[in-house]
Order: sequence, then C-alpha cells, then structure tokens
Amino acid sequence: MNVIQAKTKTLQAAAPARRRVAILGSTGSVGCQTIDLISRAPEKYEVVALTALKNVAKLVEQARLLKPELVVIADESQYRALKDALVDTNIAVAAGAKAIVEAAAADSDWVMSAIVGAAGLPATLAAARRGATIAFANKETLVCAGPLMMKLVAETGAKLLPVDSEHNAIWQVFDFEHPEAISRLIITASGGPFRTATREEMAKMTPEQALKHPVWSMGAKISVDSATLMNKGLEVIEAHFLFQMPSEKIDVLVHPQSIIHSMVEYEDGSVLAQMGTPDMRTPIGYTLAWPERMATPAAKLDLAKIGQLTFEQPDPQKFPALRFAREAMKKGGTAPASLNAANEVAVQAFLDKRIGFLDIERVNEATLNGIPVAALNNLEILHETDQAARRFAEAQVQQLAKT
Ligand code: NDP
Repeated sequence: MNVIQAKTKTLQAAAPARRRVAILGSTGSVGCQTIDLISRAPEKYEVVALTALKNVAKLVEQARLLKPELVVIADESQYRALKDALVDTNIAVAAGAKAIVEAAAADSDWVMSAIVGAAGLPATLAAARRGATIAFANKETLVCAGPLMMKLVAETGAKLLPVDSEHNAIWQVFDFEHPEAISRLIITASGGPFRTATREEMAKMTPEQALKHPVWSMGAKISVDSATLMNKGLEVIEAHFLFQMPSEKIDVLVHPQSIIHSMVEYEDGSVLAQMGTPDMRTPIGYTLAWPERMATPAAKLDLAKIGQLTFEQPDPQKFPALRFAREAMKKGGTAPASLNAANEVAVQAFLDKRIGFLDIERVNEATLNGIPVAALNNLEILHETDQAARRFAEAQVQQLAKT
C-alpha cells in the first residue's frame, strides 16, 4: 500500500481552522502559483515560512503580503539585504542551506516542496522525518533518493501528495484499495517545444527556444527537461516510487494538447483519466485543499472548443532521455542519482550557452555509464555519488565546450 492512499478524511478532522503552510521554493513557478491560490483563500491558510535561493525582491514582496513567521534565503550573501528590507516587521530572517532544512523541520501542517533539483532533498527529508504532509513537486528528491525517502515516509507516517500534474492525475484515479487490479500507468507528455523538430534543427536550438514551452509555463530547469523529454524520464522514476509500480508497467504517451494529465489502466480494460486545462493551479490546489477540493482560477475545460485530442508514441531516436531513465532504474542503487546530477549540470551548462542542446544527452549518457553504481544504503553514499557525477559531468561539459 502506498503512502498517498489518502482518500480518507483524517487530516480534515485533525486540521486546525487555518492550515499552517510552509513553502520551500516560494519564489519559483510552483511556489508563486501556490501563493496565488493561498491569497485567494486567506481565511483557510496561514503561511508560516517562505524560502528562496537568492531572489530577495520576490521574497520580500511575498513576506509583506503573507506575513509569515520566518523567511529564509539559501544564499548567505543575500542575508543583509533581506534582513534590512524586513526590518520594520516581526518576521524572523535566516540564511543558508541549514536554515532551509530547519524551516522544513519546524512545525507546520503542510509543506510545499518546490525547490528545484537535488538541492531540495535535505529539506524534503527533514519534513518527512517529522511525519509532515508534503505537497511534493521536487521530483528530483525521489529520483535521487527514492528507496530512502519511501522507507522514511513509511516509518514516520509522512504523506506525499503529488503536485506534478501527471502524478496528481494518477493519484486522483488510482484505486489504492485494489492496486493489484492496476495493469498500467500511462503518463502523458506534451512532447515539449521540439516535438516536431528534426535532430538537425534540435542541434541548433537555443535556451530561449527551449524555454518556450508550447503548453506549460514553468521554471527554467523543468522547461529544458521538457524539451529533452528528460522530465518524462524523471517522472517515470517518480511514479515508480510513488505508486510502487515496476518500470515496465509505466508507459509514456505523447499528447500535445496536455488535457489528459495521465491515466490508470485496470485489468478489466477500464482506463481512468484525469483531465483539465493545463494549469498547475489545479494539481497544486488539489494538494492544498486535500482531502477536500478548492475552487481555482484555472480555465474550465471546453472539449467542444478543443475539438480533438491526439496521441503518439515518443520517438526514442529523437529523445533518448526516456531510455536513460529506464536504464538508470534498471541499474538501480545510485544510478538514478548520477543521471539526475549529470542532467542538472548539463542543463545549467546549456542555459549558460556553454554547450549545445544535444550535448545535454551526451553528458547524461556518458555520466550514467561512467559513474560506478553503488547500493543506496544511506545518504553519505548518495552525497558522494552526486558529487562524483557532477564532477564527471562538468568534465564532459568542458570537453564538449571545446569542440
Ligand atoms: P523554479 O526554478 O521556478 O523555482 C525554484 C525555486 O527553488 C525558487 O524559489 C528558487 O529560489 C529555489 N531554489 C533554487 N535553488 C535552490 C537552492 N539551491 N536552495 C534553496 N532554494 C533553491 O522551479 P519550478 O517551480 O519550475 O520547479 C520546482 C520543482 O517543481 C522542480 O523540482 C520541478 O521539477 C517541479 N515541478 C514544477 C512544475 C512547474 O510547473 N513549474 C510542474 C511539476 C513539477 P530563487 O527564486 O531565489 O532562485
């Protein structure tokens, strides 16, 4: 049975009048959309903590709006600017990676885990350690530390409420009482901005082009991951851990309109799908109000206007990232963490215009094959692997940058 089998009303019964909310990564795309929803229902939510990496201006604006108890900036060089900007308030100000972990570990009813990348792991683990209810956007945590995270969650009773629209969709139609009747998860993919581009065209794509997602508006890293389809690869790994399904029972289906957010196929042939206009405020709102539902400003679905929903198989030649993710899962242990670390380095190098778009996959494949796989027994091994993979990937980037 899964930790998110939460169709019960237990939280509702236990919840105080206003849910106390901590938002990790509040200045990002998911963080801002979470705040947008909270601002529309201030009688239901009290924000107790906000965190960011370096965006002081946005964090100050959010702090003045929501009046949390604590704001944290990971970049310590920004502490003074943040402190000065909030000097006339009662809001506590802290800085550094450790302070972010402390914000996650402090008391709250609901934690939005929306830091991007493996950097979100320590804080998400800290929230899980205290058995928190975690709205789970930071997929890299499960990709890197899936077995450790799921073990922790089982021990502490923490709840992972999936924010990713695909996993949120699966959660909504997954029969947690009869998981044995589920034959397949079908994760949909928009196909990203380069779905119809040739490999020759893809080789010349710039960061600006990669960031122009046809359907979703998201942070830079996940936008590039959508362009390579690595995002789908990471999501297959995420689904494997969240729903405890083997990789071979998780399919990816390209659906450019992004109306069906994912599907669950049952042994009797029934396929249950969750649909909606592509707006992250729907899945975020589902986790925020859970186990109830809340009104969101997402446009209502008008299928007659859309007219057609289309589907196609992902092209493995054009988008090898899906294969890398499946290979990493097959290798197991620390392999997904190596792939994730390589991808973070490669995506940043592409955004910095040090390497080309197709070099991302070269760095990822070389690192996946180049870093030895260890059993994922503890966080130290994970940390060592992450660092080794980042060094390896950076060396690859430097090689490619010369050519
Ligand atoms: P963004 O890049 O928009 O935001 C990231 C947030 O994390 C910002 O608040 C940023 O602060 C903060 N941050 C970045 N690095 C660090 C660090 N080292 N330490 C502490 N805080 C840090 O990302 P998204 O909102 O797009 O994505 C967040 C997560 O949610 C990702 O894991 C992504 O895969 C997942 N997700 C996102 C979706 C989306 O629609 N955007 C959809 C589904 C999943 P600052 O602003 O100061 O840089």
